[in-house]
Amino acid sequence: MAIRKGSERAPEERLEADRRNLEHLAAACGEEAGLHRPLNEIVGGVITGIPEEADLAQALSDRETSDLLVHLLDENREQVEHALERVREGAYGICEGCARRIPAARLKYQPAATRCVECQSQWDRMNGRTA
Ligand SMILES: [Zn+2]
Repeated sequence: MAIRKGSERAPEERLEADRRNLEHLAAACGEEAGLHRPLNEIVGGVITGIPEEADLAQALSDRETSDLLVHLLDENREQVEHALERVREGAYGICEGCARRIPAARLKYQPAATRCVECQSQWDRMNGRTA
């Protein structure tokens, strides 16, 4: 007897996979940028050599870029973890704002969404986000 295999994966499977990917990405970004090392170790070569202000500024701005990237990845991971919580609570797919069902098309596109489009854009505005 054939076991019916769903062509769609369960949302929590997709979310777990997303979370793992984001964790790897964040770790990779952090390591590459040396975020897990003390700052003086990264710019040590600049500081112990003849202090060239331009080099130091460059080193710091690269670090800022990586910090931002890691921050964004972290935010994403938080959202995915939050969505997984909703799965555990049995509230996955229900909008946190208006308690209406989030359209399946939106969840397919953004499995980590915990709000409908209207509530999300309202929330983004309140939290000063533009995405
Ligand atoms: Zn809503």
